[in-house]
Amino acid sequence: IDIPNNYKVLFLQGGGSGQFSGVPLNLIGLKEDRCADYLVTGTWSAKAAKEAEKYGKVNIIHPKLDSYTKIPDPSSWTLNPSASYVYYCCNETVHGVEYNFTPETNGVVLVSDMSSNFLSRPVDVSKFGLIFAGAQKNVGCAGVTVVIVREDLLGHALKECPIVLDYKVQADMNSLYNTPPCFSIYIMGLVLEWIKNNGGSAAMETLNKQKSSMIYDIINSSNGFYVCPVDAACRSRMNVPFRVGKKEGDESLEKLFLEGAAKRGMISLKGHRSVGGMRASLYNAVTLEDTAALADFMRSFLKEHQ
Ligand code: PMP
Repeated sequence: IDIPNNYKVLFLQGGGSGQFSGVPLNLIGLKEDRCADYLVTGTWSAKAAKEAEKYGKVNIIHPKLDSYTKIPDPSSWTLNPSASYVYYCCNETVHGVEYNFTPETNGVVLVSDMSSNFLSRPVDVSKFGLIFAGAQKNVGCAGVTVVIVREDLLGHALKECPIVLDYKVQADMNSLYNTPPCFSIYIMGLVLEWIKNNGGSAAMETLNKQKSSMIYDIINSSNGFYVCPVDAACRSRMNVPFRVGKKEGDESLEKLFLEGAAKRGMISLKGHRSVGGMRASLYNAVTLEDTAALADFMRSFLKEHQ
């Protein structure tokens, strides 16, 4: 992803949730007002905003959403020029909402949680002050969290910042302030090689577009048998949430759907408990063939039950 030279790449612990604290602890003090702008478009950005409130003032910069199924139009955002940073979650894993554009912040540092779409498509790192991603979705297994941070943002941590989360300390020590999660880093190295040997993030994007279209096409042409509640403009290529049955979902049919899928070796299709229904996660490791198998099953289930 062509990370410019004025960025550091850190390998930290504590997962994405660790960075919900790490980001404000390191960056909210960048400006005197100690405030930060948050876009809250799903469970994960909501959790990040709540955590940040412990360390400064959090501005939610758009009208509150009744449901996490869309991204409020940028014309409705009230960005604060005195904010230390603007935060958003690039792919809301639970709700299947993904930004297909990079927010414009008029010069304020931009921070993004890319835990669930990291390396699934190219990204222009130079537009960001900081990007973080837990490895366990697209680039390896749990235990290591990648933080890509612009060098001029180092050294501004609040004094209460735990030392293991202090980006400057970790950058100065090449992420070896404390014992690193070696095995997770090793696995990530293998996955990065695999991505590189398979055409890099651009090739991942092509594949992920193909994969997600296979599933969305079936949903869209199912006459309401399958329903994805997310606005067409921000449907995630990584996580496809959908209900089975009538509009609200028919739980007995959904149970049958899960059982039928399991018989074909497809597991973990149950949606997050907070939204119900199904969720097909199509991370980099899921192949076109795997996705075609799900698509086949969805088509035959539709035929049988519509
Ligand atoms: N951000 C996003 C977008 C996530 O999907 C998740 C986990 N599913 C997290 C943060 C939290 O990550 P962790 O479980 O590694 O703390």
